[in-house]
Amino acid sequence: MLSKKEPTTPVVDTAIDSPSDPRTSLFAVCVFCGSRLGHDPDWSAMGNETGQAIAHRQWRLVYGAGRWGLMGAVAKAALDEGAHVTGIIPDYLIKIEPVLPGLDRLEIVQTMIERKVRMMELSDAFLVLPGGIGTLEELFEVWTGLQTHAHTKPVVLANLKGYYDPLLNFINKAAHEGFLTPSQKSRLVVTTSIHEALQRLEAFASDNAGAAER
Ligand code: AMP
Repeated sequence: MLSKKEPTTPVVDTAIDSPSDPRTSLFAVCVFCGSRLGHDPDWSAMGNETGQAIAHRQWRLVYGAGRWGLMGAVAKAALDEGAHVTGIIPDYLIKIEPVLPGLDRLEIVQTMIERKVRMMELSDAFLVLPGGIGTLEELFEVWTGLQTHAHTKPVVLANLKGYYDPLLNFINKAAHEGFLTPSQKSRLVVTTSIHEALQRLEAFASDNAGAAER
């Protein structure tokens, strides 16, 4: 898993930070998804749709700051449609995952752990789209975070085109075998479309009205 270093105070790149921006009080959705685009062109189309939908709802996007892959597609589409986008990335990862230009806010942290802590602090909800092992790690971090009371924010898994069916089958097996309680399982909100995922988030957003710690 992660290399554990002592967390330090996040460095905000003030050159592109805009703390007086009124959009920083809007409902913030943290999107986890692939740093690659995947083979199916539908994934990038769905990434664009997600970024646009976040902007059209006047929500903020929080994500891993990268310019590549599905995560880059979501963020580009959100920025193009006028959303406030915050990227959070460990400094050593910038060489591997270059930062998307034009972010409203970039937080450069020291470790992956700090990145996830800041994502949890800055966001009101989590949305998981298709991705690889980094995405899976992030999904399990925020889902288990509900169990350990690290946060109380909704976690929505968009099971698009059945991408997560094998994982959901395994989760059902874990429940069947008695290693996962029904209440643990029910804390993960699973949808089969972006539209449905956004509807679920909308319901949380209307209950929330920006209650997250910022
Ligand atoms: P992937 O799903 O593997 O394409 O990665 C998606 C995102 O997850 C990327 O921004 C990665 O930097 C991030 N990531 C990769 N490994 C980890 C990890 N161990 N903890 C947290 N995030 C990670």
